[in-house]
Amino acid sequence: VLSCQAVRKTFHGRPVLHGLDLDVAEHEVVVLIGASGSGKSTLLRCVNLLETVDDGAILLDGEEITDPRHDADRVRARIGMVFQSYNLFPHLTVLDNVTLAPVRVHRVHKAEARRRALELLDRVGLADRAGEYPDRLSGGQQQRVAIVRALASSPRLILLDEVTSALDPELVGEVLALIAELKREGTTMLIATHEMGFARQVADRVCFLDGGRIVEQGPPSRVLSEPSQPRTRQFLQRIV
Ligand code: ATP
Ligand code: MG
Repeated sequence: VLSCQAVRKTFHGRPVLHGLDLDVAEHEVVVLIGASGSGKSTLLRCVNLLETVDDGAILLDGEEITDPRHDADRVRARIGMVFQSYNLFPHLTVLDNVTLAPVRVHRVHKAEARRRALELLDRVGLADRAGEYPDRLSGGQQQRVAIVRALASSPRLILLDEVTSALDPELVGEVLALIAELKREGTTMLIATHEMGFARQVADRVCFLDGGRIVEQGPPSRVLSEPSQPRTRQFLQRIV
């Protein structure tokens, strides 16, 4: 589905991504781990064309989306992204948040978009809150709405950046449970997280980023339990 090829990104002359290669296959869940500043968010933002890459290419279904002639909005319509802060539109109801992109971008009929949105909201136990504004919901509920909103456009790939780090600890579980369920359904996801327990639970493959490079990758059972690289070992020792 996704292929990042020798992606380089520099901010003010300081390289943040050093010719990074990463593929995500259909139905695969890839989790990026690494210290703060290692480039996880920057990579996700490059994939979603929120940043331009300085060199290299990113392909979505074989199509080079980093080609400047590509329409970024069309690309973003095929990728769902959820951030740490839920980013729901405060002036729109839950239902309107979820139907906005399908109706505006994908030209889905309003009635059909509402039907699908309510179905998705029902799955996350929030159908009865559809008419409310985001500030009436808890952080965990808002984040579940944000994930539903990303799903509503039936994207090829979902990017999740630290989706639980702004949540109170007792609300983290409900969001992680939703992501685990999406994995069981075969949703293709690229996730950045600091939660190693979550990485272990959902990842098909864990990639450890250090200084804008993937230093080590593999199944979570190996990378998280028996890392082969000293840098990975250091990182894991520091956080547990
Ligand atoms: P965290 O775990 O804290 O979220 P991260 O791995 O997501 O960290 P990034 O946010 O990708 O790290 O940042 C990588 C580096 O790029 C950091 O040194 C950061 O300061 C720098 N950086 C990110 N965005 C910008 C920007 N818009 N302008 C300048 N520097 C930036
Ligand atoms: Mg980040």
